[in-house]
Amino acid sequence: MGTYVVSGSASGMGHAAAERLRAAGHSVIGVDITATPRPLDVAADLSTAEGRRSAAEEVLAACGGALDGAILAAGVGPVAGRDRLIAQVNYFGVVELLTALRPAFARTAAAKVVVVSSNSTTTTPLVPQRAVRALLAGDVENALRAVRWFGKRSAPMTYAASKIAVSRWVRRHAVTQQWAGAGIRLNALAPGAIMTPLLAEQLADPTESKAIKAFPVPIGGYGDAGHLADWMVFMLSEAADFLCGSVIFVDGGSDAYFRSESWPAPVPARMLPRYAQRFLGYRRATRPVA
Ligand code: NAD
Repeated sequence: MGTYVVSGSASGMGHAAAERLRAAGHSVIGVDITATPRPLDVAADLSTAEGRRSAAEEVLAACGGALDGAILAAGVGPVAGRDRLIAQVNYFGVVELLTALRPAFARTAAAKVVVVSSNSTTTTPLVPQRAVRALLAGDVENALRAVRWFGKRSAPMTYAASKIAVSRWVRRHAVTQQWAGAGIRLNALAPGAIMTPLLAEQLADPTESKAIKAFPVPIGGYGDAGHLADWMVFMLSEAADFLCGSVIFVDGGSDAYFRSESWPAPVPARMLPRYAQRFLGYRRATRPVA
């Protein structure tokens, strides 16, 4: 049986995933701003650098420095006025925690990590790439400046930017010596609209509700938190041994509806020099991989 960290374990998809892992006999260290009475759980505010530092310290103490995997599900929805919180929790609350926990994943040499992204990454038009680049560079102020132009409608842009940035971070790091080379499988899951308290809060706002209900979902309705938790647990299993740097969309078909012709896409021609360099560099850097 393994030891897993689940952020956002107090509600929605994170809660459902933590319950499934516990039911299968694993130890789960839940991390959430909402305190829970479970002995291993850590109460931490992932929107602050200090909260992220103390969360990592407490998790490392609770697991004895070795982890079999993690699910990063703590997140804040695209609610107006919460731009800074969205960027802090959805991007920095994932990457800073994972960076601090990486040595514990490497200790078990077969750890699996699932980051919860979103299909807003590919279905939100006009997301400023400057905001995405700023987040990846660790510059939250610049990211917030980049979405200011959208005024009261900036929250969906910040949300999508935070999820694009975190997905790119996953793909960049998943393939490196520090992650793939250390036996860690790092992947992302991109849900569509899933019925959780996060979605319920958006549906309670009449304008948001109208937009959500008009959004094309080919199979109709909303996703179920338990089904998404099943995907997360599957992505932690041995069946995912060969899964590395993937972003899996479980969204009722919305991504396919909007982008049937744009994915899969080959490496663009302008990337060829870097492609050759990366290919050769990869062969040098990763062999032999244990
Ligand atoms: P949820 O609101 O039910 O759960 C989110 C959890 O994150 C809560 O327990 C909350 O307390 C925790 N959290 C929020 N801010 C925190 C902070 N500062 N520090 C620590 N914990 C904090 O939402 P959910 O729908 O289960 O969301 C899970 C993940 O899925 C999120 O990353 C969300 O962005 C993503 N997502 C949700 C949907 C959806 O439609 N529900 C769609 C796509 C992606």
